[in-house]
Amino acid sequence: MPVPFRNEPFTDFGAEGNQSLFKNALRLVESELGKHYPLIIGGKEMETTTKAISINPSQKDQVIGSLSQAGEEQAEQAIVTAQAVFEHWRYTTFTERARYLFKAATLLRRRKHEFSAWMVYEAGKTWGEADADTAEAIDFMEFYAREAQRLAQPQPLVHIEGEDNELYYVPLGVGVIIPPWNFPLAIMAGMTTAAIVSGNTVVLKPASTTSVIAAKFVQLLIEAGVPSGVVNFIPGAGSEIGDYLVDHPLTRFISFTGSREVGLRINERAAKTAPGQKWMKRVIAEMGGKDAIIVDEGSDLTAAAEAITASAFGFAGQKCSACSRAIIHESVYDEVLTKVIALTRKLKVGSPLLPETNVGPVIDPHAFRKIQDYIKIGRTEGEIVLGGKAEINDGYFIEPTIIAGVSPTSRVSQEEIFGPVVAFTKASSFQEALRYANNTEFGLTGAVFSRNRTHLEQARAVFFAGNLYFNRKCTGALVGVHPFGGFNMSGTDSKAGGRDYLLLFTQAKLVSEKY
Ligand code: GLU
Repeated sequence: MPVPFRNEPFTDFGAEGNQSLFKNALRLVESELGKHYPLIIGGKEMETTTKAISINPSQKDQVIGSLSQAGEEQAEQAIVTAQAVFEHWRYTTFTERARYLFKAATLLRRRKHEFSAWMVYEAGKTWGEADADTAEAIDFMEFYAREAQRLAQPQPLVHIEGEDNELYYVPLGVGVIIPPWNFPLAIMAGMTTAAIVSGNTVVLKPASTTSVIAAKFVQLLIEAGVPSGVVNFIPGAGSEIGDYLVDHPLTRFISFTGSREVGLRINERAAKTAPGQKWMKRVIAEMGGKDAIIVDEGSDLTAAAEAITASAFGFAGQKCSACSRAIIHESVYDEVLTKVIALTRKLKVGSPLLPETNVGPVIDPHAFRKIQDYIKIGRTEGEIVLGGKAEINDGYFIEPTIIAGVSPTSRVSQEEIFGPVVAFTKASSFQEALRYANNTEFGLTGAVFSRNRTHLEQARAVFFAGNLYFNRKCTGALVGVHPFGGFNMSGTDSKAGGRDYLLLFTQAKLVSEKY
């Protein structure tokens, strides 16, 4: 039996030696830039005529790698292969499948900095953000492997005389895995390995902007001995193969993390039964957020300002957990705003290759334009009190931007921006702050800073968010500690890193034998 789960510690880059180890990893990755990555279907590498390149968002002329792109023909082949392999994989035991995850977690831990360095280059993550992403990927595998072992145990049932009753969790079938680019290792690895440890086979379509990291991870799974065809890797444009994969009659479930728009499209299409389809498809979706931090009067304003700054601008705000709304009691509004401005001024924006960088680029030109447009809208809906400058020079850099005096119904308070932009709103009472916080179609994360027990209990009951934090930031959920997933348009509340997660990839079978 493995030791009890504990979270992978983060690297202390201030400590002796760690900086140079990380610089070595960056050099190693730099020496591997520009390589080509094939599709992998049924364990076989496959090339197609369409290629796409992945670039460094902080230095856009630097190619991270090129990837063959799947079309419908390869998507078909991947699904049919996954279905054939499922017929065997489904009967392997949870315990056997858990071993692949334990081994993959160990291999990843050994090459931790190397994987993080790939994220610095391909996703524009700062050292700390990349290190946390890799740690979370290790955590997901360690956690789900243990969860699989728990599900393999006899499940509690009421006993009746003269019968032996047992309940087993059996897999679903072929899963289509569509992960996001913002946690290109952790979430992609978590979604993939949760599905396979539960006995499913998968077709993994990585996010286009971070496909090289996914390719590296698939290689690691192969090294860990995961049999051919259990994970089929097909990079490709969502517009080319997304619908095809979702609509396919052999697709049993779709596990998706990304935008609300794409999540809803998947949900609608998956609900339609294709000719020959034998099941109702399951959709596991983690979508957007419009997350608020409330600051009450009498709370620790310094801690609140630090939390807002970290939650709004970590990874340039490109997290669905990011704080995009700061809702502040009017009696402390000016003080909190002043503190957040002062802290944000100290953030260094620039290339994430440098250890001192706090805010790197945004992911691509599309994100850059969208965020820039929202900053323009913000100018009309409030006052830009800091930042606002967006420039494409070497990469897609946007200054951390604070918009003050924003109404809770304005567009910048309602629509997901997914960039380094936070809107400040004044509330005349704690109750009003709570109403503003809940005035959103999303419900992913939220935080409250207060020393008032009555207010905290009220927020505990009515603040409608899947992950609600008190007196701390609203990003950085830890596997096993803070199962992660949200309400309403934030998705299916599929609590990644929690004890309910693997159940989403299984169905329960009861066998009753009369003696
Ligand atoms: N789990 C991450 C956090 O707690 C956010 C995940 C996401 O942005 O999709 O910050």
